[in-house]
Amino acid sequence: MTTEGNIKTPVYLDYQSTTPVDPRVLDAMLPWFTEKFGNPHSTSHALGRESAEAVEEARGKIADLVNADPREIIFTSGATESNNMAIKGAARFERAHRDKRDKIVSVVTEHKCVIESVKAMEAEGFETVFLPVDENGLVDLGALDGAVDDRTVLVSVMAANNEIGVLQPVAEIGALARERGALFHTDAAQAVGKMPVDVEAMAIDLMSISGHKVYGPKGIGVLYMRRRPRARLEPLFSGGGQERTIRSGTVPTPLAIGLGEAAAIAQREMGEEAVRLGALRDHLWQGVQERIPDVAFNGDADARLPANLNIAFDGVKALDLVEAMPDLAVSTGSACTSAVVEPSYVLRALGLDDDRAGSSIRIGLGRFTTEAEVEFALDHLAEAVSRLRQHSTAA
Ligand SMILES: *Cc1c(COP(=O)(O)O)cnc(C)c1O
Repeated sequence: MTTEGNIKTPVYLDYQSTTPVDPRVLDAMLPWFTEKFGNPHSTSHALGRESAEAVEEARGKIADLVNADPREIIFTSGATESNNMAIKGAARFERAHRDKRDKIVSVVTEHKCVIESVKAMEAEGFETVFLPVDENGLVDLGALDGAVDDRTVLVSVMAANNEIGVLQPVAEIGALARERGALFHTDAAQAVGKMPVDVEAMAIDLMSISGHKVYGPKGIGVLYMRRRPRARLEPLFSGGGQERTIRSGTVPTPLAIGLGEAAAIAQREMGEEAVRLGALRDHLWQGVQERIPDVAFNGDADARLPANLNIAFDGVKALDLVEAMPDLAVSTGSACTSAVVEPSYVLRALGLDDDRAGSSIRIGLGRFTTEAEVEFALDHLAEAVSRLRQHSTAA
C-alpha cells in the first residue's frame, strides 16, 4: 500500500466481495490459536471444555443477532456450504423420508452457489423454477404466489443481492412459503449484520450467514435451522456427528469465536453504521451525477443495502474503467464471475442490455470507509471516465 496525502491506496470499495477482519474481532480470536487450542468436542479435560464454552458463547451472540435460539445455529465453512446444505439437504430429506414434494422455487439473481445447488437437485429429479425479477431487481410476489404450491419443498430467495444490493421482501416470501407448507431458505450473507434480520418475524426456516462479509474471518459461516416447526435436512458430510449431527467436522474454535464477536459488534453498531454509510453512499452518487454525464443507477433505489452502489457509465467498458483506476479497489460484477469476460447475469436479469451491463461497476462502502476516501474515489472516477470517453471519441 502507498499513501496519497493521508489516504492509503488502493482505497478499498469492494466490501460486498469481502470485509477486513475488525481489529476487535482479531483480538478476540488470537488466544484461541495458541494457548487455548483445545478441541471443543474433547470435553474430558479443561482445555477442551474452555473451547466448548467459548464456542457456545459465540453461538449465543450469533443467535441473538437474528432472534434465534442458540441450538438453531450450525457452524459451517461459509455461506457457500450453508447454501448447499440447506438446498440439497432439504430436498434430499424430503425425498428420503416423505417423498411428497418435488419442486424447488428460487430466483434468477441468486448467488451462483444457490443457483448451482438448485440445478444439482434438478439433476436428481426435482422440478425447479427460477423466478424472474423486474427492472429494479425485485422478485414479483405475484409470480412467486403462482409458483409455490403443495408440491413445493423449498423456496430459496436471497435477502440482499451481492451485486446490486437490492433487498427482497423476505417477510412476505416467508409468510407465503409457510402458508403453503414449503420451507423458506434465505441466503442472508449480505444482509445479516448490515440490517435487522429476525427469523421469527420473517418466517425463515433456513438461513445462510458468512463470516467474512461481516468483518469476521474467512472460512466460517452459519446455517440457521429452525427447531419449531422443525426444518429437517440430510447432512452433506458423514463423520463424527458434530453440530447436532448436521455438520460433522471439528468446529474451528478461533473462527467461530471471531464470528461471534463480529455478530456482537454488528448488533451494537449496525444501526448507526447504516446511517453513516447511507449518507456517504448518497454523497458519492450525488457527486457522480454532478461530475459525470450519462450515468445510470442499477437496482432499486429504496429497497437496497445502504452501502452499495451499482452504476453504469455510458460508453465506457467496466473492465477498462477498473483498470484505469489502480488506486481504487472496485468490482465489475460479482467476484466469483469477474474472471469471465461476460456481462453480469444479475444485471442482464434486470433487462439491461449487454452494453449497459458491461459498463457497470459495483462500489461497496463499509465500516472503515472515510469521507476522504469517498472524495478520492469521486476524483478518480470523474478523471478516468472522462479520459476513457475522450479516447473512444478520438479513435
Ligand atoms: C459471499 C456470498 C456468498 C458466499 O459466501 P462464502 O462464505 O464466501 O462461501 C453467498 N451468497 C452471497 C449473497 C454472498 O454475498
